[in-house]
Amino acid sequence: MRIDKRKVALVGCGMVGMSYAYALLNQTACDELVLIDVNEKKAMGEAMDLNHGLAFAGSNMEIYAGSYEDCQNADLVVICAGVAQKPGETRLNLLKRNGEVFRSIIEPVTRSGFNGIFLVATNPVDIMTRITCQLSGFNPGRVLGSGTALDTARLRYLLGEYLQVDPKNVHAYVMGEHGDSEFVPWSQAMVATFPILDLCGREGSMRQISRSVLQEIAGQVKGAAYQIIEAKQATYYGIGMALARITRAVLGDENSVLTVSAMLRGEYGQKDVFAGVPCVINGNGVKRVLELPLLQEELEQMDASCRILKESFEGVL
Ligand code: NAD
Repeated sequence: MRIDKRKVALVGCGMVGMSYAYALLNQTACDELVLIDVNEKKAMGEAMDLNHGLAFAGSNMEIYAGSYEDCQNADLVVICAGVAQKPGETRLNLLKRNGEVFRSIIEPVTRSGFNGIFLVATNPVDIMTRITCQLSGFNPGRVLGSGTALDTARLRYLLGEYLQVDPKNVHAYVMGEHGDSEFVPWSQAMVATFPILDLCGREGSMRQISRSVLQEIAGQVKGAAYQIIEAKQATYYGIGMALARITRAVLGDENSVLTVSAMLRGEYGQKDVFAGVPCVINGNGVKRVLELPLLQEELEQMDASCRILKESFEGVL
């Protein structure tokens, strides 16, 4: 019997990385997980801790602390490594320091002979994903970031709460930068097969909603990370689950539609920029960027967001 192990190499064993690893273990989303961190002792301790949960897990999994050489036969390298913003530090300076961190990661990963897919979570995620693509020289389809996957999940949760419908039956996306310039193209938002804009001010089988509630929800999505950071210093469970979902789409060759940060090559009138867009994700990474029929004003929001991303990337060069 040929046993083809689904192997994930995780670089960065902090709060985000380990929330992801814990989600992988609970979902038995891979067969082999290697933990890599500049702090080798931490990676070793985390591997021990996770291994002690194996007796209660749904299936067996090989988990160990390793090195970049272990990426050689990995299907996926997931990067959650990064340095935190120092008090008073500019965003650009933080970007430069994270650029250095990525240089120290991507080069040994590619040198290992790794030939799989990169998935990036480190912030600012759209820029770090583009840097990963540039440093690795990989085909852009094989480099993706978590993008607006988490923001989209937050949007669906809030809409589901308001409409009293399971978020899984809410089809709406957050697009653009994972950050302040992200936006919700409401013209594309549906609950079951009802366009959400049609529910505004109309009685029916679904709870009524209004434009002002939609704006409020979009604002809450944008402010969610700030609110969580203010309350508990960091966000990690939601992103851990989002990364696990993307991982299952890749390792299961699912062709699932997820809003990841992908290279745009003419879609939405944008070129050579990584931004959060709905994509078909499978074993080859980004199989296709879906080009939704956005309204003119939504295209303008996309354009403004991509402009910010381009300027940030150019600033870090
Ligand atoms: P953390 O400080 O807890 O963990 C960072 C880890 O990276 C640490 O274990 C550190 O040792 C490791 N590291 C640092 N430099 C390294 C290097 N050169 N090589 C290998 N490992 C290195 O931080 P966190 O809370 O886990 O956040 C990680 C990143 O995820 C941050 O950039 C954060 O902003 C981002 N994040 C992204 C999203 C999203 O939606 N994309 C959501 C939340 C957080």
